Amino acid sequence: MEYVDTLIRKGKIYTLKEEGDLVEALAIDKGKIIFAGSKDESQKYIASEIVDLGGKTVISGMGDSHLHLYAYCQNKALINLESVKSMDALIQTIRARALETEKGRWLKGVGFDQNKYPESRLPNRWDLDKISREHPIVIRRCCLHVMVANSLAIEMASITEEDIKKFDGLIELDDRGEMTGIFREAATSIFDDIVPDPLSEAEVKQKIMLEVFDEMVSKGITIIHTYSANIWNYFEDIDTYRLLESEGKLPIRIIVNLDELFENDGINWDDNPYIKVKYGSYKLFTDGSLGARTAALMEPYSDDKDNYGILVDRHKLYNELLEAYSRGLQPAIHAIGDRAIQLCLDAIEYAIDKCGYDIKRKPFRIINAQLVNQKQLKRMKELPVVLDIQPIFLCTDLYWVDSRLGSKRVDWAYMWKTLMENGIIMAGGSDCPVESFDPIKGIHAAVTRKDFNGFPKDGWHPEEKLSVYQAICLFSKNIAYMTGDEDILGTLEEGKYADFVVLDKDPFTIEPDNLKDIKVLATYVAGKKVY
Ligand SMILES: [Zn+2]
Repeated sequence: MEYVDTLIRKGKIYTLKEEGDLVEALAIDKGKIIFAGSKDESQKYIASEIVDLGGKTVISGMGDSHLHLYAYCQNKALINLESVKSMDALIQTIRARALETEKGRWLKGVGFDQNKYPESRLPNRWDLDKISREHPIVIRRCCLHVMVANSLAIEMASITEEDIKKFDGLIELDDRGEMTGIFREAATSIFDDIVPDPLSEAEVKQKIMLEVFDEMVSKGITIIHTYSANIWNYFEDIDTYRLLESEGKLPIRIIVNLDELFENDGINWDDNPYIKVKYGSYKLFTDGSLGARTAALMEPYSDDKDNYGILVDRHKLYNELLEAYSRGLQPAIHAIGDRAIQLCLDAIEYAIDKCGYDIKRKPFRIINAQLVNQKQLKRMKELPVVLDIQPIFLCTDLYWVDSRLGSKRVDWAYMWKTLMENGIIMAGGSDCPVESFDPIKGIHAAVTRKDFNGFPKDGWHPEEKLSVYQAICLFSKNIAYMTGDEDILGTLEEGKYADFVVLDKDPFTIEPDNLKDIKVLATYVAGKKVY
């Protein structure tokens, strides 16, 4: 007889070690799994707590390999424009808020997507002026790479001729040379610097964060990799999370990734089940987004013949990447278009060339990687490179990505099965607040390649559909691999932390179209029930 903290039994427990690997019971002690096996064998354990699953399905805890938690929390305090479907509705939604907001105070909207509007054009300052000329108004596109401001906001930003020159095309001008109110990429920082941060009060911040963690555990999330984006004032401060942790209020694991150089304090999770916060990667940018037509392409956009997107300066990237890598940091590089991927691979080769390659180091991460051509795929196979992909992007992008990229090139977009079959390791995320962090939705998107209304009927480029096992691994096992935590997290095996979720249906046996309806019944982190 052996005493343990918890015994989980009578479950259909998918360990995810390999496809189809099933056990009936887990014995957990001090946060770790010390036994995974049959019901009969589990009888040798005496547990303080016994959880009877009644045949329910269990998989490893899920996660998100790339999101912006601070931004999502900020958005919760702002005007949500995600469900808006026309220019008129956009105006109405913001006007409703303007009516209850003191004149002169900022109104900030987030998550708009003009591709959903019949007008299919970006709003401009004159659209927003219809809402109010007495409130400064700014709205940010769902992809984060475009911002629109009304006339008062532009006036308050006191933008000079010099700024317009400095941002070189990123501040849009009309034929008469007047600002249209559309700001792209780095130029959006003009407003981030003057619009007050809704989370500046510590109490408000903590309250919203705790609400968000509740939401996350209810979706089966046990770990997130959150990224700062200082260009948009999305700060990530490890101390905020460590404070919550020390107060016993933090239910999930958080890896904090920064876009400025930092000193990794080396605090790890290996031996302490109570530590759930640590540092992760150093983030760099190379291009924009496909939705905003700023992702960098080798050939121009098929629906905008002079536009190749925007790309960061080669030497700037080389230097920044080398600096971070030589300091021992793990670089994570945002790259969406094929020209950005190319530059990214060049820069990684350059850093390895200068510093040498050590197999013990964590791999280079490429974030998004939406358009990878065959030559680049070959290069990736030779390099220590992993990809942080967002399957749920497909549900939004499948409506317009064919026209952006044209029929030939679009074959290389979101080709996850091909990448996987070529041995490229990928982890799943949402880039939230770009999309929902619900991992079940991401799994649904990766398996069906349809939106949540079942469009298109056979899936978009169905030859690239992933199996349920592959898709679940994206959101569990592979996330652990990104940060070298595969020995302690990601699967339900002896010696690993007992992070797992109980589901109401078995994802491996239901119709793929119903994956999206799976509900999480319970979530455990290090053997402790958090939902
Ligand atoms: Zn991001």
